[in-house]
Amino acid sequence: MHLVLLGPPGAGKGTQAALLSRDLGLAHISTGDMLRGAVQEGTDLGLLAREYMDQGNLVPDDVVIGITKERLEAPDVQTGFVLDGFPRTVKQAEALDEILEDIGLPLDLVINIKVPQSELIRRMTGRRVCPKCGESYHLVFNPPRSLGTCDQCGHDLHQRDDDKETTVRQRLEVYERESGPLTDYYSDKGVLVSVDGTGTVEQVADRLKLTLK
Ligand code: AMP
Repeated sequence: MHLVLLGPPGAGKGTQAALLSRDLGLAHISTGDMLRGAVQEGTDLGLLAREYMDQGNLVPDDVVIGITKERLEAPDVQTGFVLDGFPRTVKQAEALDEILEDIGLPLDLVINIKVPQSELIRRMTGRRVCPKCGESYHLVFNPPRSLGTCDQCGHDLHQRDDDKETTVRQRLEVYERESGPLTDYYSDKGVLVSVDGTGTVEQVADRLKLTLK
């Protein structure tokens, strides 16, 4: 199966893509994770990407298209993929069409995960991660046993710069402007379905499973 998950930041694309990847054996391709990896490693790509990411802006199309193309050409993608966070602009969607045509894979379905804006802000600003072991928490939905400290390794928890409220609002504005037109793009191609992204992780996962059936 060859899937794209669309949806604003905080809609749960990453969580749901990881579950689909586990359950259906799909390659999980997250441009956000790839870019964060480059930032951590301090590569040239990471240095460039960081400036955009910290401000809540999109990394330039050419850069993101380049890393996604390379990833889609890897052998594990032949058994199926779920794209999470790509495409985010019409230019990226057009590039994806070309890449898939070149590698001879179809796009089966684009799933748009819908969540109201107030809920997105609540979800994102409450996220905390452990910079040491990578464990993630949420102040409301999945709090650590001791406030501000990682249950697994005891390290201080950290709020991603792009999860701070002003940046979150900026990311949502950018999503509306740059990624909003993607729903028309894919609906015109007849591959778009929408799924309600509110509720628990399990509830959304069940809705996705039903949709895929
Ligand atoms: P995410 O984890 O998908 O929310 O992505 C985090 C950040 O990485 C975004 O706010 C963007 O700055 C950048 N990013 C991820 N994917 C893309 C993309 N397809 N196009 C441009 N920027 C991206």
